[in-house]
Amino acid sequence: MYEMHVGITTPDGVFVWHVAPVGNPTALCGQSLHGVPTEERDRTDRHCASCMHSFQELMNDRN
Ligand SMILES: [Zn+2]
Repeated sequence: MYEMHVGITTPDGVFVWHVAPVGNPTALCGQSLHGVPTEERDRTDRHCASCMHSFQELMNDRN
């Protein structure tokens, strides 16, 4: 199972939605999801392109 997490993205330093395995603090793109200020959560509607790509491939592998 995977879940969405708001996290910072490099090098922009903007907040995006990452995808991470449940219970894993590291997103599929390798970004650590620790230390995101609570007030910044849920403020973004952007998604991490790298995570989306990895997630798509994971889904494809299952079929
Ligand atoms: Zn990501």
